[in-house]
Amino acid sequence: MRFDERQKKIRQYINDHNLDGLLVTHLPNIRYLTGFTGSAAMVLVTESETFFITDARYVTQAEREVRGRVVKVENTYPETVGETVTQARLRRVGFESPHMTHKQLRALFDRTPEPVLFVPTEGAVESLRMVKDPEEIQAIRRAVEMTSEVFEEFVQEIKPGVRERDLAVELEYRLRRRGADKLSFDIIIASGERSALPHGIASDKRIDRGFVVCDVGIVLDGYCSDMSRTVHVGNPDSRAREIYDIVLSAQLNCEQHLCGGMKSQAIDALTREVIAERGYGEYYAHGTGHGIGLEVHEAPRVSKTADGQVPAGAVITVEPGIYLPGWGGVRIEDVVVVTETGGEVLTPTPKDLMIL
Ligand code: ZN
Ligand code: ZN
Repeated sequence: MRFDERQKKIRQYINDHNLDGLLVTHLPNIRYLTGFTGSAAMVLVTESETFFITDARYVTQAEREVRGRVVKVENTYPETVGETVTQARLRRVGFESPHMTHKQLRALFDRTPEPVLFVPTEGAVESLRMVKDPEEIQAIRRAVEMTSEVFEEFVQEIKPGVRERDLAVELEYRLRRRGADKLSFDIIIASGERSALPHGIASDKRIDRGFVVCDVGIVLDGYCSDMSRTVHVGNPDSRAREIYDIVLSAQLNCEQHLCGGMKSQAIDALTREVIAERGYGEYYAHGTGHGIGLEVHEAPRVSKTADGQVPAGAVITVEPGIYLPGWGGVRIEDVVVVTETGGEVLTPTPKDLMIL
């Protein structure tokens, strides 16, 4: 039912944009519209039909999983798309411009006779995906809770002398054992000075005194989680306590005051202003968060340069940080469901400074 509903909205988009069809090539969008979990397909949505174009490897799977008419690729995808467009007598077909390479597009033009016009579009499916339905929120909740449970057991493994890379491997192993399909990105374990690197993928460095930023997410039933916690090895000095306290205050201020319909920039300001007021604005060089769902980074972006609003029903991360080069950094990240009146924090892991 929900796939029919989603496809219906794309038909509305086609109508509104004066198109005869939309060619969807981005796999998360394909999954969202049809339920397909494989790794090669294109979907052509027209006013009256949904053509699911895939090759021999996925035909059986597609016939089982997919809402839409399965069309088998005999030679190449562009050729089959061209044939389908011609047979359906389409004239103006939208394509997903952020998700097509120039080469793919050329191949498509070459296989499609005149007078078909391919029209660049952007965000048709992504804007639907931004507002989650209850099943999606449940799927994200399960991924988030599994990540938290495993992380909370794992955290005691962080000790002086252990290599970051070994900790990341251990954490991944435990997540996979618990049932994660895979990681949603490479685990960040960044200790000491490296904790000042916002994307410090685990290295050969051994844990020493100081902060350790851990940022981890999984994919479970297609939906992603993403969490960061920063722990301190050894007793923190007053500056470390101060920095942690500022990041946590910024994070809580945002979680407590955001709500559906706010501008992205206004939500971002809820973290940024707290950090700036306490004198560390220049050390917070990334956005507050991002949408999360079938992809770990998806619409809406929440940053000082993002356009638009965050609608009720969006699921976003709230992840402010302070990073002092040569010293270290702190980031705290939860996943939050945005509602009409506020936000529901899904990540259950405590946020008081953990000293190991
Ligand atoms: Zn993260
Ligand atoms: Zn994140």
